[in-house]
Amino acid sequence: MPQYKVAIVGAGPAGYFAAQALQNLQSDELQFTIDVVERLPTPWGLVRSGVAPDHPKIKTVAKVFEKVATAGNFRLFGGIELGTDISIEQLKEMYDAVVIATGSALGKKLGIAGEDLPGSISAAEFVPWYNAHPDFADFNVDLSCSTAVVIGAGNVAMDVARMLALEPSELDSTDTADHAIAALKASSIREVVISARRGPEHAAFTSPELRELPKLEHTNVLMAKTDIESAIERAGSEIEKDTKSNLDAMLLISEKAATGHDRTMRFQFLSTPIEIKGVDKVEEVVFQKTGSDEKFSIKCGLVITAIGYEAASIPGVPYERGKVVNNEGRVSENLYVVGWAKRGPSGVIGTNKSDAADVMKLLVEDLKEAKNSGDISEILPANKFVSQANWEAINAAEIAAGEPLGKPRRKFVSREELHQIARN
Ligand code: NAP
Repeated sequence: MPQYKVAIVGAGPAGYFAAQALQNLQSDELQFTIDVVERLPTPWGLVRSGVAPDHPKIKTVAKVFEKVATAGNFRLFGGIELGTDISIEQLKEMYDAVVIATGSALGKKLGIAGEDLPGSISAAEFVPWYNAHPDFADFNVDLSCSTAVVIGAGNVAMDVARMLALEPSELDSTDTADHAIAALKASSIREVVISARRGPEHAAFTSPELRELPKLEHTNVLMAKTDIESAIERAGSEIEKDTKSNLDAMLLISEKAATGHDRTMRFQFLSTPIEIKGVDKVEEVVFQKTGSDEKFSIKCGLVITAIGYEAASIPGVPYERGKVVNNEGRVSENLYVVGWAKRGPSGVIGTNKSDAADVMKLLVEDLKEAKNSGDISEILPANKFVSQANWEAINAAEIAAGEPLGKPRRKFVSREELHQIARN
């Protein structure tokens, strides 16, 4: 019976769904061993370091990942970086197929003056910081100002704004990084402006996320009713279903009377950022009313851009416009790509399931004779990587540490600490 070896690079949702698809494609005639190589000592990708901590339900998909990981023929090689510890060429040589599932880790830039001033950061930094990503343990977020501006009208902008505008004690029962809870408790920010360059009818928010905003217990959420009414008019009667449910949700928000809360999240539309001003740090953002010459500015000390992501490149893999160059997931001889690295940063976690399944079907079509030419465990010293058993020790330790505090888990942040727990 042919036994094929597949290496998946990246233990995020796309990587697990690719592994699951391969497991599902197995038959008496076709068997796989799957090795997943992950840069961090912890798996789960965006489910661990992207999903907002106040959205624990979304994270329950991790149960599916653990089922895949323990179904047999699956090995995790955590803490192993492609390009440093092992090269793509080595993987391609040893494995029958290699699947890139490394996502899109870099925040897109606005490309306007002042964007590099201190106090102007990307959601690609802020989100992993509050989610205890080891690379951002020492990231410095200055929350000493009273107003923050979040640029972008997607769900990431919404997550970022909500995290800044929530009453921070609401995060005590979540798996938010300890350092972020402490910083948010000390934060002076009381107004968060979410700024969209187009109208409400073009916003990329999804309606479940909009519908939860009026339920925030300690935050005013403000939208101008005239903005939403004009958008409804512009959208007309041929309106798409998703746009309609978004506008319905926004109308409800705009009709809710302002409350006396200390913290406010305010939406502005049709505002294009044209410059970030400040002497040594951010002091204001200048906007142009989209479609007109009218300018206005907002004084603030923090700007967070949440305008999409690009894939970080891997040596030996062709990239173009922030994505791996591919044809329906095929990159080159025995090399494939799935998830955001393949199609760009769009869709929810579940979108990766059908996407990965489609690519794995192509991978199976392309299989030749099984290579049997070794695997990564022959190159890496045994104590160099975090195995599935090591990760299970970390996972159990985090859950145990969170329990007395009423948290689903208390995340360990530093690589050293994570490796140490893995070894115990
Ligand atoms: P997104 O949904 O693509 O939204 C990006 C936003 O940035 C858009 O509003 C876009 O406006 C704006 N933008 C882009 N370039 C800009 C520029 N130069 N200046 C000003 N605005 C600009 O991306 P995302 O928010 O990063 O989310 C990525 C994916 O993850 C989405 O599919 C999202 O739904 C998903 N996600 C889901 C959840 C959830 O389910 N709870 C949470 C987080 C993320 P234009 O439309 O005008 O280009």
